[in-house]
Amino acid sequence: MTKQITIGVLALQGAFIEHIGILQNLGAATREIRLPEDLEGIDGLIIPGGESTTISKLMQDYSLITPIKKMAKSGLPVWGTCAGLILLAKKIDNQIVTSLDLMDIEVTRNAFGRQKESFSTGLSSHAIGDKQYEAVFIRAPLISDTGKKVEVLAKLEDGTIVAARENNLLVTSFHPELTLDHRWHQYFLSMINK
Ligand code: GLN
Repeated sequence: MTKQITIGVLALQGAFIEHIGILQNLGAATREIRLPEDLEGIDGLIIPGGESTTISKLMQDYSLITPIKKMAKSGLPVWGTCAGLILLAKKIDNQIVTSLDLMDIEVTRNAFGRQKESFSTGLSSHAIGDKQYEAVFIRAPLISDTGKKVEVLAKLEDGTIVAARENNLLVTSFHPELTLDHRWHQYFLSMINK
């Protein structure tokens, strides 16, 4: 029998419960991550949406920045959704957020303006197959620039980049934990199986 995969979900603030429910439905074991010792033995990590300033402050308070950075640099698959995307970026337009400084992307927080704070729209991505995916954006960031090693996985119709990957790092500016279509979670799990 193959070993069951355990996915850690950073559980300091934000939409972590929803990720946990989907992962369990897909057959993965899950662990809520609040302290450095919780990270031991996980096969992948999700940093959920929420408020990046708050999550960043709590990650610093609980001494999580250094161990997460170390594990990501040695190849642990990490997926940041929305606020989690901001926390993985090397460059953020608004530097009040201390990020993990891991992925070669530049992000703009709250990029879609007030009247569009929340919206959903159909996306195509070769990462998850041909069928359109309905993506939910909530006060979402956008990716304004990507480094050479970053693969763009999804764009809005106007060209705005909203999903990308750099080796073991995946980011989506929308909330795949809020829809019934679980293809992005399956894609993340496939990054671990490889
Ligand atoms: N606007 C939030 C931030 O900047 C992100 C929103 C979200 O995660 N849904 O942190």
